[in-house]
Amino acid sequence: NLNPDSARLLIVGLGATGYSAAQFLQKTPIKFAVIDSRKNPPLIDNLREQMPDVPVFSGGFDQSALDVATHLLVSPGVSLHEAAIQKAVQAGVTVLSDIDLFACATDKPVIGITGSNGKSTVTTMLGEMANAAGVKTAIGGNLGTPALDLLQQDAELYVLELSSFQLERTTALNAKVATVLNVSPDHLDRHDGMAGYAAEKQRVFRGDGVMILNADDPMVMAMRDSARQTLTFSTQTQADFYLRRGETDTLMQGEQALMAASKLRLEGSHNIANALAALALGTAAGLSITKMCDALRQFKGLPHRMQKVAEKGGINWVNDSKATNIGACIAALNGYEHKVILIAGGETKGADMSELVPAVTEKTKAVVLIGKDAPLIAQALNHCVPIHFAGNMKEAVTIAASLASEGDSVLLSPACASLDQYRSYVDRGNKFAEAVMSLPLC
Ligand code: ADP
Repeated sequence: NLNPDSARLLIVGLGATGYSAAQFLQKTPIKFAVIDSRKNPPLIDNLREQMPDVPVFSGGFDQSALDVATHLLVSPGVSLHEAAIQKAVQAGVTVLSDIDLFACATDKPVIGITGSNGKSTVTTMLGEMANAAGVKTAIGGNLGTPALDLLQQDAELYVLELSSFQLERTTALNAKVATVLNVSPDHLDRHDGMAGYAAEKQRVFRGDGVMILNADDPMVMAMRDSARQTLTFSTQTQADFYLRRGETDTLMQGEQALMAASKLRLEGSHNIANALAALALGTAAGLSITKMCDALRQFKGLPHRMQKVAEKGGINWVNDSKATNIGACIAALNGYEHKVILIAGGETKGADMSELVPAVTEKTKAVVLIGKDAPLIAQALNHCVPIHFAGNMKEAVTIAASLASEGDSVLLSPACASLDQYRSYVDRGNKFAEAVMSLPLC
């Protein structure tokens, strides 16, 4: 409903997404401007240089720009609760996302992937599977390349990782296949509680495509729509794609054995769920199961997700810095057969950290806490295991080394955002690896 004669679109937020939208819109007759509350948003110089005619308002949400807008394309980093946006919505302005523009601009099949954890892993896995199956595939969205920039790749299939913030403002995505991998507490400081957060994720299913559901997650199964074609995956019970436990644990498609779970090169049992999800998504998209399994055997995983950093002096150091919420940390711990030393902490984003207690009690010998919310987390853990505090990563690694004996694993899986102490989870993971490498024994 973007009529070039009457629509005035305002891009809210000039980060990677906002910039990709500007580049896209410039090739259309639609009139648009850009607004950002920051004085110097990241891509303002590029915009001024490449698109000098596009009006830019920075250093606040300029009311005159908002008053003439008919549509707001709100970047995922900007909250819809922002007063200026709420006011515009009440005045009848339509909110949309870059994903809406993307969906309207392509007639190629799109696979949508969301969930609290595993999105990047499954998106990358599926991209590799599809390319191995001979289908020219582009991947991106919340991960890597913004969706609209993918259009330049002229792919036959698009695999999009979608965050709850992207979905909350998207209406037009009619994915051929879509999944909510799992739902566990995250970003509760920006969403309307768990129910609101799950409802945003469920929007990935808008349309009439195939639904891929995690049979082990009741909040995901509650999204089932009996009128829609559905495939399920599970590591606990029989499903369309599941893990059959036995002498050799095997990935199954119905009655057909696909491959031994031990052939996966990934640490952590949650990655078996990710592999099953990717197989289900690919099958629904018509990819060859043999080619997908070949690609799975080659897939080495992404950095900062259960990544082995070093094994020195008999101690195994694992970087799971991307564990920015409770669910990821619990999954990491539950993947271990033995007790580990856990380094955690940072910003909790409003989550109830006492949900960590069962996994921490069962799977850790001790916890070393870092970051702003360390005291809050210590209180929530309530001495279920010995707790230590560290001012920075180097200190945390030194304390963990002093607690570890031969055969132990030390796991960085913070269950928190990193921004109180680091530029990003990547920076946090790199600082961990550096600190491990500089230990006397390494
Ligand atoms: P996302 O893109 O959803 O953040 P990633 O693949 O980047 O997901 O992984 C994020 C974190 O979640 C990592 O710590 C990873 O080990 C963990 N993780 C990956 N897959 C799962 C899963 N299926 N369930 C729980 N945690 C997972």
